[in-house]
Amino acid sequence: MSSLQAATALLEQSLRTRRTLLGRTRTGVTRESLARLSQTPAAQTSEISNPKSEMPRSARLVALNEAVRACRQCENLAASRTQTVFGTGNPQADLMFVGEAPGADEDKQGEPFVGRAGELLTRIIGAMGLSRGDVYIANVLKCRPDMEPGAPGNRPPAILEMQRCLPYLREQIAIIQPRVLVALGKTAMTGLTGADQSMSTLRGRWLTFENIPLLPTYHPSYLLRNGSNVEKRKVWEDMMLVMEKLGMPISEKQRGFFLSAS
Ligand code: SF4
Repeated sequence: MSSLQAATALLEQSLRTRRTLLGRTRTGVTRESLARLSQTPAAQTSEISNPKSEMPRSARLVALNEAVRACRQCENLAASRTQTVFGTGNPQADLMFVGEAPGADEDKQGEPFVGRAGELLTRIIGAMGLSRGDVYIANVLKCRPDMEPGAPGNRPPAILEMQRCLPYLREQIAIIQPRVLVALGKTAMTGLTGADQSMSTLRGRWLTFENIPLLPTYHPSYLLRNGSNVEKRKVWEDMMLVMEKLGMPISEKQRGFFLSAS
């Protein structure tokens, strides 16, 4: 079954489920809108996350991933990407991390946060007593922002690119239903909420996204650039806020991480 056929099949099943549960109802989804799915997947996949769907979360994520893989709304990014980078982790996760966009490593491997910043994120998750398989990790943008040929590094995503791609992340969040979201870095925060304050202003204070508690904190690459214990401690204090919100135990040893000034 092709990607869009899978997404369409899910939509049709969702409609059948709704009709069964609710009788004749105005869903706003018609055969015409199902047909349009093949043309504009981001705008037409909202039924995949229908909470009444009988499909398991993993299957809905697979269908959404297929729609993302077929997406060519940003022509330049679709032309330059090696592959889309959908997300990874536990479909039932209580905790979801959101970054800004894939870089070169992620574009190559098809998984978010696999470079040096990803290794540091994995260590942060481990310090919380969790593994990458316990949480879910995704980016606002599903394609690597394109670069001039031969240009080194990565560029941050443009606002318009993030606005185009955000519906996919919304769907992921709606399917996974995490209890807590963590936004990694200012660009991810801007992409999620439109906030443009500095991360030093935003971090460590609870906000909400789609009624889910959202905590902004520094991107791990910031800690790679500024690795002082003072900055590491700020991120760690944010992670302890997350642990408290999730009702996770925090040991005395964990409470003491990064307390020395150097
Ligand atoms: S960045 Fe998002 S909206 Fe743009 S082409 Fe990739 S998947 Fe589609």
